[in-house]
Amino acid sequence: MTHQNPVYKRVVVKVGTNVITGRDGKLDHAILDSLTSEIASLMADGIEVILVTSGAVGAGRGIVSLSGSLTPVETRQVLSATGQIRLINAYNDRFEKHGMIGAQLLVTKGDFRDRQHYLNMRTCFEALLQQKIVPIVNENDAVAVTELMFTDNDELSGLIASMLQVDGHIILSNVDGLFDMQSEGHTVIEEIDPGSKNFSHYIRPGKSEFGRGGMLTKCTIAHKLSRLGITVHIANGTKPGILRTIVEGGRTGTKFIAQKAKQSRKRWIALSEGLEKGAVIINQGAIDALTSTEHATSLLPVGITAVDGNFSRGDVIRICSEKGEVIGYGMASSSAEKARTNQGQKGHKPVIHYDHLYLVP
Ligand code: GLU
Repeated sequence: MTHQNPVYKRVVVKVGTNVITGRDGKLDHAILDSLTSEIASLMADGIEVILVTSGAVGAGRGIVSLSGSLTPVETRQVLSATGQIRLINAYNDRFEKHGMIGAQLLVTKGDFRDRQHYLNMRTCFEALLQQKIVPIVNENDAVAVTELMFTDNDELSGLIASMLQVDGHIILSNVDGLFDMQSEGHTVIEEIDPGSKNFSHYIRPGKSEFGRGGMLTKCTIAHKLSRLGITVHIANGTKPGILRTIVEGGRTGTKFIAQKAKQSRKRWIALSEGLEKGAVIINQGAIDALTSTEHATSLLPVGITAVDGNFSRGDVIRICSEKGEVIGYGMASSSAEKARTNQGQKGHKPVIHYDHLYLVP
């Protein structure tokens, strides 16, 4: 078959639980067949694909009948630990039929916290892709509890997309995209501009039936990624040929148009929400200086009114106003102790350099 020129060279494909499991919690073999053969065909054309897949808990539900009383956390641990084996085998068996090798990577949110650890993880993905092996990623649900947990796999897939600087990020769910709830007939929104802010009128309340994610987290991640330079598609994973259509620039689902790509460190900082080791509270003068569009400004100790936590140089910290609003995130150039000693004083080096600063839109 002749294929059109792809518009993407490297993509993350995120597959939701609802795409690959039926209502009975069993894996849907037909959908898995078509998704894996599409991925194999894209890879044969030289497009690098990283697969982020949910469905471990869903698959576990299809095989374990739980007895006795378990807490919700224990239930998730048992279902994911058992279901992940079925899930990975379901993908890997199919990839093998296409002459390909799959690799399993199970991660927790904590793996993204430390820059060096993050870079080690990136090296592993790059090495797999170089060997033409498909990385198959899921959250390590059996051990990821409380603060180590991702909000959902949409968040996880966003972190992977940003880490690997993909040019396209495809989020597959069982709906056609974002619907304009204000239009008659609720049509699918084809494109979303990176400047858009309020998604509430595109979103039906509620979350997906079996997975943890919902349309709002999908939108939030998609919007963030598009502002970091990654084009994001939210599309229906049950439609045959969906990946090929998107990769060749066809119109389907909702596309979040990308802004100019941000450099690696900024992308890491921008997606570090929840991983901060501390915070600085800054006064209005400092907020005005940081948000001024005239020139790039670093955060100096003089504008800091309080320092929270015990961070070290190189850690990501949150920047808040005195009213508690989050202004942004940054990589600290000094320790919390030093920032505390110098806060409110002129003539000291920045606590966050402007190259290591990400302001919340
Ligand atoms: N990691 C979970 C699973 O494999 C899914 C989380 C989500 O639904 O986003 O079941």
